[in-house]
Amino acid sequence: MYEENQYSCQHCGKRYRWKSTLKRHEVFECGGKEPVHQCPHCDYRAKQSGNLRVHIRKYHTSIELQSPSPAPRKPIVNPIQHQPSNLSTNQTPVAAAER
Ligand SMILES: [Zn+2]
Ligand SMILES: [Zn+2]
Repeated sequence: MYEENQYSCQHCGKRYRWKSTLKRHEVFECGGKEPVHQCPHCDYRAKQSGNLRVHIRKYHTSIELQSPSPAPRKPIVNPIQHQPSNLSTNQTPVAAAER
């Protein structure tokens, strides 16, 4: 009698006989390989961004509806860009050149 493949990957369901092998699979093969798209609203993860979109539309529609207009993100322009020119001391010191 022997136990076979009692450890199953929680991501893809692949079964392994040894816990260490499963861990290695989870980290390097399964979890490490595929880009995981985490749902911002719950713990759901999708392997493809399209699946995540479908999930959000399905389960979080109310949240999505709260922001109906896709407002274009404007970068906040720094007012510091308009610096007074007298701050720069490197500009041709007239008084020093005069003497
Ligand atoms: Zn896996
Ligand atoms: Zn979700």
